[in-house]
Amino acid sequence: MLKPLMTDRECMKLRSLIDGAETIVVCCHTNPDGDAIGSLLGWSNVLQTLGKQPLMVVPDQYPDYLQWMPNTEKIVRYDKRQEYVNTVLKIADVVFCLDFNTLSRTEGMAEALAGSPAPKVLIDHHLDPDVDAVLSLSQPKMSSTCELVFRIVWQMGLFEQLGKHFAGPIYCGMMTDTGGFTFNSNNPEIFFIISQLLTKHINKDKIYRSVYNNYSEHRLRLVGHVLCNKLVVDSKRHAAYFTLTRQDLRRYHFMKGDAEGLVNMPLQIKGLKLSISLREDTERDNLIWVSLRSVDDFPCNEVAARFFNGGGHLNASGGRINGTMDDAIQAVRAALIAYEDALKG
Ligand code: 5GP
Ligand code: MN
Repeated sequence: MLKPLMTDRECMKLRSLIDGAETIVVCCHTNPDGDAIGSLLGWSNVLQTLGKQPLMVVPDQYPDYLQWMPNTEKIVRYDKRQEYVNTVLKIADVVFCLDFNTLSRTEGMAEALAGSPAPKVLIDHHLDPDVDAVLSLSQPKMSSTCELVFRIVWQMGLFEQLGKHFAGPIYCGMMTDTGGFTFNSNNPEIFFIISQLLTKHINKDKIYRSVYNNYSEHRLRLVGHVLCNKLVVDSKRHAAYFTLTRQDLRRYHFMKGDAEGLVNMPLQIKGLKLSISLREDTERDNLIWVSLRSVDDFPCNEVAARFFNGGGHLNASGGRINGTMDDAIQAVRAALIAYEDALKG
């Protein structure tokens, strides 16, 4: 029913790495999103079912709207428990790297990961994997790392034994990385996978509500403020951008995750092809987080790489500007001019 994506050799290698390991670390990227946390919890649940006790590590805080998932209380934050995680990384028998293609996406944890003698297994769907792994299950065509984890589990013949604690987080990551199955989700097999996940008695409507209708009043008002007062629309170039300064963030009691999805909203304007969000870091000076979204074949990952020290997927990318908000706005203006023809085309 599902096309296998690992070779028999890869499948056997994965199984023997798991079977032979006592200490296992599972980690994901910084600023973890639904796919990162979903795959972390889903894959760890598989390992637990196989009798292992993996240590789940995130580089930093994950948003509140993911807290509902089972076992989130067992996730360890690297920024809070650095020494402990470093010790475990030194003795680990295998480290699973989920939902990132390069160690630098784990920010502060990258050095410890690079220094760990443990063999690494990469499970990811970003382009251009660059992790020194004994097994690299990199599938950029997948909608999400969660979809990839499902397929791995399916191919290993483990799905039968798994339950809700696997299916819920996996469904959540597939849902969030496809904007509730509104983009990057035309492969019919995705819906086969969903039908299988539903056999584990997950409530997909409740999962949707837990993620998308679980914000604070402040977040809703922040959205209003951005759309009303901060959005700059360049209709000539079919693009829009907005800034979120520390002042905006303070005024609306910003919490991690509150900006999620905001960058997609300008794309609701007819004909708009590119939307860019510029957000000031709440703690570090001269650091602006950049998010980009585009439609059709406009490559926002190219724009992210050329102008914002980043990258990502064709229609969803990110990066950063090490400078002031004015520097970031200048970079946006330069990008819009450089891509004028592609945006108009
Ligand atoms: P977001 O806007 O949600 O932070 O990121 C959108 C996508 O862009 C994510 O799927 C992520 O993989 C990618 N991305 C975000 N920041 C970076 C970055 O600094 N470098 C690269 N290569 N990709 C990024
Ligand atoms: Mn992902």
